[in-house]
Amino acid sequence: MAKYIFVTGGVTSSLGKGIIAASLAKLLQARGLRVTIQKFDPYINVDPGTLNPYEHGECYVTEDGAETDLDLGHYERFLNIYTSQANNVTTGRIYQTVINKEREGAFLGKTVQVVPHITDEIKRRMKLLGQTGEFDVVITELGGTVGDIESLPFVESVRQLQWELPEEDTVVVHLTLIPYLKAAKELKTKPTQHSVRMLSEEGVHPDIIVCRTERSLSPELKRKIALFCNVKPEAVIEAADASTIYEVPVLMMREGLDTIVLKKLNLTATREPELSKWKQFLDKLKYPKGKVSIGLVGKYIELQDAYKSILESFIHAGAMNECQVQVHNVHSEYITADNVAEKLAGLDGLLVAPGFGHRGVEGKIMAVRCARENKLPFFGICLGMQMAAIEFARNVLGKELANSTEMDPQTPHPVIDLMDEQKKVTAKGGTMRLGAYPCHIVKGSLAHRIYGQEQIKERHRHRWEFNNKYLDDFEKAGMMASGKNPATGLVEIIELTEHPFFIGVQYHPELKSTVENPQPLFVEFIKASLQHAENRLTPSAARAASLR
Ligand code: GLN
Repeated sequence: MAKYIFVTGGVTSSLGKGIIAASLAKLLQARGLRVTIQKFDPYINVDPGTLNPYEHGECYVTEDGAETDLDLGHYERFLNIYTSQANNVTTGRIYQTVINKEREGAFLGKTVQVVPHITDEIKRRMKLLGQTGEFDVVITELGGTVGDIESLPFVESVRQLQWELPEEDTVVVHLTLIPYLKAAKELKTKPTQHSVRMLSEEGVHPDIIVCRTERSLSPELKRKIALFCNVKPEAVIEAADASTIYEVPVLMMREGLDTIVLKKLNLTATREPELSKWKQFLDKLKYPKGKVSIGLVGKYIELQDAYKSILESFIHAGAMNECQVQVHNVHSEYITADNVAEKLAGLDGLLVAPGFGHRGVEGKIMAVRCARENKLPFFGICLGMQMAAIEFARNVLGKELANSTEMDPQTPHPVIDLMDEQKKVTAKGGTMRLGAYPCHIVKGSLAHRIYGQEQIKERHRHRWEFNNKYLDDFEKAGMMASGKNPATGLVEIIELTEHPFFIGVQYHPELKSTVENPQPLFVEFIKASLQHAENRLTPSAARAASLR
């Protein structure tokens, strides 16, 4: 039987519940326990797949093709395990299941209600992963903030589960904020007291209180929080601001979060947390030997969460290369033929981001051209890869009006076209080509050198694809398809043969980069960009490289 840890949030959103949950999971995993994390979101969308990135940040896609909350990305990056559809549940999905059952007649004769029908479905899903026998501990992060109307059924479900299960099988961790009032020169505990009281009124009493704070909590203050929130002093954990999210597991270990959780769950771990690899990574991250400037071209760049996995992949790849990756945001909508060179000046590498719709695509195409012509390391992801194909068709193959039918349905040269199986699809939710598919890599290609193997599997989220009618023309002119889906021939990777590093991928490699396994395309892209920086600074090295 698995044990269940619930993580709730109080006072305000954006306290980093996902990072605390992932850090606790990391510590328990590092002690030899089998851990997974799941997130329950109180919104009514069935999944975040139809949400605008401005609303909800990036949509993270799992191996099994679920469109999920970006916190699942943190879980995978921290734990180096795969999550799945079962790890992310929304109110919408719960109601959909219950309503479908009602239509099938499963509750015939009964009035279907929030309690017990919705809460029963929430509880069933909360226990699902725990019942597989694969995990010793299941951490459930409850989205939203305690006190929200929409999170009530989730808190009620936690209350019922605590009542149903043996006492030592559940623990509730409440994450709150201890604000510092400059005028009073004081840390204030009242919001925390209120939030714990609210949670208690809903029937759940936290066992552990994790306090986000900008200043260190004195022992007296911890005692005060403990007394008024009715927990033991050692159950008040300080979560000070960290320089990087990857430091949080180490901070939590110092505060004894894992120890107190184990005690409450009556679990005896076989060892102290084994974090030597993690700490090596942290060292490289915190003390880089060099730096590299990468341009991130996208249209959602005002919102960093929109490109979360890409930014984290840069961090992993930077540590591997012992350098700091400085990401410069380039808004694709504001790139013009006149300013593109200026906007990309001083960069050592260019990543053109995924996206949907026509806004900003011409800017992306201009940026690709600049990278291609100036031999700037280039990495295109999904829409970024499609833009690289369009740029090549227009400026190398001379097909000036080449486009994707997503942007111009009437284009005479649809080098990117809607996938056949997508042509009859009208519903928007969960209908893209989603999740992991195999890709076969051509021996001797750049992709082959990077991956070091011919068979890979990467995750997808798209409707359009490279139009194979044009492949011959592309390959004759120097852009090869170095990776394809073995079953359908769908082009997964394109690369330029006469360029130091120019690669575009139809899939999303950023979704599989973890601290322990940085994604190889990112690692090599950063390496190529470092090389570019070196050549830029020492022109003689560049000459030597070009003669080689
Ligand atoms: N809009 C493009 C498509 O659907 C690219 C999608 C993406 O970048 N994820 O094919």
